[in-house]
Amino acid sequence: ERLKEGLSKTRRNFTDRIQELVGLSAAIDDDFLDELEMILLSADVGVKTTEKLIDAVRKAAKKKEISGTEDVIPFLKKYMAEMLADSGQRTRIGAKPTVILVVGVNGVGKTTTIGKLANYFTLFKYKVVLAAGDTFRAAAGEQLQIWGERAHCDVIRHAEGADPAAVVFDAMKAAIARKADILFIDTAGRLHNKANLMNELEKIHRIIKREIPEAPHETFLVLDATTGQNAINQAKVFMETAKVTGVVLTKLDGTAKGGVVVAIKEELGLPVKWIGVGEGIMDFRPFEPDKFVEALFD
Ligand code: GDP
Repeated sequence: ERLKEGLSKTRRNFTDRIQELVGLSAAIDDDFLDELEMILLSADVGVKTTEKLIDAVRKAAKKKEISGTEDVIPFLKKYMAEMLADSGQRTRIGAKPTVILVVGVNGVGKTTTIGKLANYFTLFKYKVVLAAGDTFRAAAGEQLQIWGERAHCDVIRHAEGADPAAVVFDAMKAAIARKADILFIDTAGRLHNKANLMNELEKIHRIIKREIPEAPHETFLVLDATTGQNAINQAKVFMETAKVTGVVLTKLDGTAKGGVVVAIKEELGLPVKWIGVGEGIMDFRPFEPDKFVEALFD
């Protein structure tokens, strides 16, 4: 229900409009497909993915697998669920500590996401340590501290302007010494300077690997769903600088463009692992393709 609520804007823009179109159209003809294409594009499903979906509908109609326009919704539902099928892999907490690096541009919701995840895993009795690796933005460390207090976990933090690598160094030592199950590392997201970003992430990687060669076990790229196609472009830059293992898609509650979930999978080949549907500590979900598609269409 929370998920349906979080997706309400997308549902209005996407599902309601498709339903309206289906009600108004007698046949799956070019006009119908053109309209459907517009709806998909406006939900930020992405150009390539939209083409693929429209093509699939056209073919299915030709082969008489679907006949009336009312068959289109169940068809899309099934097709989208299949597209997302191997998305939504769970985060495995195996290694101790499991090191999770969190990257993304400023304002996308990195700190909030770490707070939510820290609380979630603490509730499941994992010992969590947070590293305030964004030493660039004045409020970032402070915010992480507040989230850490809410979630009852330790926060390793240096003064503003300190070397992020030094924070990571201390955090790795602390997480190992305190026998933490999970270490989340927050980072600064200054995308306007790609060389700088790359250097910083490389340095952080070196420090992590010096303690645990196979870490980071996960690198989450946080993307803001309200930025739609722009999020896809950001992702491409980060994928060149870090080995991203999954996406956290935030602010799905604030957008009618929830179709970007499908674009992330289709255009970037990245699984969406978690979704944010609000500012509160419980306002997020592990991404489950079936539930997502159900919530979108039902
Ligand atoms: P960071 O700079 O990437 O660390 O971003 P923050 O975690 O500071 O978040 C930036 C803003 O986005 C804050 O006002 C958050 O409350 C808000 N935010 C984060 N996640 C969500 C979400 O899932 N939904 C909504 N509505 N707001 C969010």
